[in-house]
Amino acid sequence: MNNKIAKSALVVFSGGQDSTTCLYWAKKHFDEVYALTFRYGQKHVKEVDIAADIAREAGVHHDVMDVSFIGTLGHNSLTDPTMPMDADRPQGGVPNTFVPGRNLFFLSSAAVYARERGIFHLVTGVSQTDFSGYPDCRDSFMKSLNVTLNLSMDEQFSIHTPLMWLDKAQTWALADELGVFYLVRQRTLTCYNGIPGDGCGHCPACKLRRKGLEDFLGVTSDGFN
Ligand code: ZN
Repeated sequence: MNNKIAKSALVVFSGGQDSTTCLYWAKKHFDEVYALTFRYGQKHVKEVDIAADIAREAGVHHDVMDVSFIGTLGHNSLTDPTMPMDADRPQGGVPNTFVPGRNLFFLSSAAVYARERGIFHLVTGVSQTDFSGYPDCRDSFMKSLNVTLNLSMDEQFSIHTPLMWLDKAQTWALADELGVFYLVRQRTLTCYNGIPGDGCGHCPACKLRRKGLEDFLGVTSDGFN
């Protein structure tokens, strides 16, 4: 096998905290890194521009793929502007911010895209620890999908999930360890209301991100700026 190809990885990249941390994790572990961003009908398409900027600065290949059918297939509040977002996980169900099939389609599309380029390492920032009730962020799903991708194309893909068992505070610690704490804090977009950096502060994504940051910095809400 060609060494260079074996050392290439493709990162599923949204420009958020988790995937940006994964992008720099991949840069540390692979010689050549590709980042792939999806347009899936998300309300805040500026995340695509933010992803492009971060990828350019990171010096990785970047591409954007349109998979906007995902947003219309399943009804959810991330792609339907008329639906208010669930603030919390409802009892016994998934929040309406769950985009059904998103990671299934993302990883499957990414695998085909990667295979065309001779890349068989896929990196995604999903986490079971803070999975917000999303079933497609769980380790069992990723392992199952990895097998399915291999069988579907008769290849040997490796799905890497460096954040799988980290909570948000540990993800901040990893960004810090990779030397990109400030870049991740200031430039990434995690907020469901489309505000980069520390975000709106009120949506579920901001609350989770902020809680992790406070835990990492060892400060309470009162001392947080
Ligand atoms: Zn927010």
